[in-house]
Amino acid sequence: MKSYYITGIILSRENIGEKDRLIIFLTRERGKLKAVARGSRKISSKLAGSLEPINVVRGWINIGKTFDIVKGVEVLKTFPTIRKDLDKYLAASKILEFTELIVQENDDGEKFFKLLIGVITALDRYDTNIDSLLRFFWINIISLAGYKLRLNRCICGKESISYFSPSLGGVICRDCILKTDDTMVVSDKSIELLREYEDMKLSEAIVKDVPPIVGKELDDILERFRLYHTGIKLKSEEVTL
Ligand SMILES: [Zn+2]
Repeated sequence: MKSYYITGIILSRENIGEKDRLIIFLTRERGKLKAVARGSRKISSKLAGSLEPINVVRGWINIGKTFDIVKGVEVLKTFPTIRKDLDKYLAASKILEFTELIVQENDDGEKFFKLLIGVITALDRYDTNIDSLLRFFWINIISLAGYKLRLNRCICGKESISYFSPSLGGVICRDCILKTDDTMVVSDKSIELLREYEDMKLSEAIVKDVPPIVGKELDDILERFRLYHTGIKLKSEEVTL
């Protein structure tokens, strides 16, 4: 039987049949990968404990007919702090869910894998500003998926901009607001910060402090842009405390 190895982070899993689980990985080698872990719902299963969402594993996979089959896994990382801290856990849930929906099977997984491992490791290890980490994640993942925000000039070329339109892909000028019906008024500070986030390193993002009012505006811009271009609504965002 043909087999291959992967290094991947577990995005989610779902029960199939009475004893099995379908595991969804983001792998470095093959983008998103779905594979069945046979018998992994049984308490005695060696695989069960290793195949928890967020875990990073090295996996040995057999090629199957409908789905490939997980034959063995070695756990590389478990991120214990995220599992103990509700705010961190909720942030990780959004990150994993969005990644699962935006990355396709056989996509070039390496760039998404690197982003995800970086963000999840930072979330686990440091006293992170979670809102800022999430902004870093949204800007980078939508850009990797091919939806880069246009932040320097309007579609008409003008540089005097004080509006944002998700459907027009970024900032727009006063003369162009009638070209669309989803114009948002945005402050100069927000635009400046979005530009900053685009070039920001992860190590800077986790300690970046943004005043709450501006932060709210940034999050609103990013959410509407992401929703318009990807159409992805997250179940994990419906959780409110
Ligand atoms: Zn314009």
